[in-house]
Amino acid sequence: MKFYCPVCWHDMPFAGVKCPRCGTDAGQFSSEATFVDKLLSAVFHPEPLTARRAIWILGEKQSEVAVPALAKLLKQGPDLYTLLAIVEALEKIGTPAAREMLQNLSAHKSAIVGREARGSLSRLRQNRQPAVTRS
Ligand SMILES: [Zn+2]
Repeated sequence: MKFYCPVCWHDMPFAGVKCPRCGTDAGQFSSEATFVDKLLSAVFHPEPLTARRAIWILGEKQSEVAVPALAKLLKQGPDLYTLLAIVEALEKIGTPAAREMLQNLSAHKSAIVGREARGSLSRLRQNRQPAVTRS
């Protein structure tokens, strides 16, 4: 079993120690961070499947706070499947910031990513559902 810092994803020798890179106390993080905080951190997980799962959940939750994290991840040049997960999540989130990112992704150097982003934008334009009321 491999352990990572839950904040910077540095390798840890074992669970329950402070991260040698960023000083995070993993136990404290896991008891104090919110579910969304943990998802936002997991977006940068070194194992792409874990990162993609977090991106998917953030999309399902229509989490507006995920947009800056997804933008940051995008700058790190993620793999194709992660890029497609980002596009899907941005469509579900659907805020102006998410749409702007989709607009930029529609010109992505990967033709598949560009096509998916254009599809997302066109679906968002067609079913202009009323904005979700947020408390
Ligand atoms: Zn760390």
